[in-house]
Amino acid sequence: MNAPDPRRPARYSVIGHPVAHSQSPFIHAQFAQQTGQDIAYGRIDCGAQGFEAAVRAFAADGAAGCNVTVPFKFDAAALAAVCTERARLAGAANTLRFDADGWLADNTDGIGLLRDIEFNAGFALAGRRVLLVGAGGAGAGVLGPLLGAGPRELTLVNRTPERAQALVARHAPLAREAGVALRAAALQAPGRAFDLVINASASSLQGASVPVPDDALSGAGLAIDLMYGAAAQGFLDWAARRGARARDGLGMLVEQAAEAFFVWRGVRPDGAPVLQALRARLACA
Ligand code: NAP
Repeated sequence: MNAPDPRRPARYSVIGHPVAHSQSPFIHAQFAQQTGQDIAYGRIDCGAQGFEAAVRAFAADGAAGCNVTVPFKFDAAALAAVCTERARLAGAANTLRFDADGWLADNTDGIGLLRDIEFNAGFALAGRRVLLVGAGGAGAGVLGPLLGAGPRELTLVNRTPERAQALVARHAPLAREAGVALRAAALQAPGRAFDLVINASASSLQGASVPVPDDALSGAGLAIDLMYGAAAQGFLDWAARRGARARDGLGMLVEQAAEAFFVWRGVRPDGAPVLQALRARLACA
């Protein structure tokens, strides 16, 4: 393995398949400029089968770390010598740091979503009723941090119910500790009038309809789709028709990246101006 060359920028990349659409290189370039950190950040499309080989080759070439995207977050956690507690609970990682004494795996999706909800959207989670839709990599990553924010109730639903039940079972001790009523329910019968509905499923990505009944969302509530761009519009329109506030996944995207930057560089960038720049960039695209 080549040691990092201190005369060159520290190298990072997003690795996954596909990655051509990824905004991470733009976001991290903005963070680097803002904080004066000397980094280079690229994209590696590893194809459907080549994830592990691509990560190992990148690390062996002296890179410092990577982000991992769909569908390899579960594989990423398994590759590391050490998982942070939030990556261990999720069983999935979106951030690897190639430490010389063993790779560290972390999952920054949950803290990114929390920052977007509580700080960017100004919506305090304490005491709220929350519906989380989706028990894939994203749902698994955000569940623990959401519990930590102390909602009154958190209901998890998923197209394949067994996955939701397994995640709920794994998080039950944390929920008890945090005093949150955590349960799994059926996708078509989650309960009514939640204060916050988070769509962490791939329904919008696939152009499918909103996967929960209309009355799941309170008209005074907030609804977030982790998807962004045109694909998220159907979900945002659904929330607006309910009279609720609607938010796409761009804020979380920036905030999870800010936390990954902190894991790598020990400096936490300010996400707000980067989110603004990203929205402007996408509006012009
Ligand atoms: P994943 O691991 O592939 O999981 C997909 C999830 O969506 C599973 O729970 C799956 O249910 C469910 N699903 C798929 N199609 C569905 C449909 N038509 N109706 C209802 N549920 C459906 O993907 P992921 O990593 O969790 O990502 C999910 C979404 O979050 C993607 O759109 C991704 O782009 C987005 N995301 C955004 C951010 C961000 O920073 N904004 C970060 C992470 C992910 P089954 O278990 O039944 O298959």
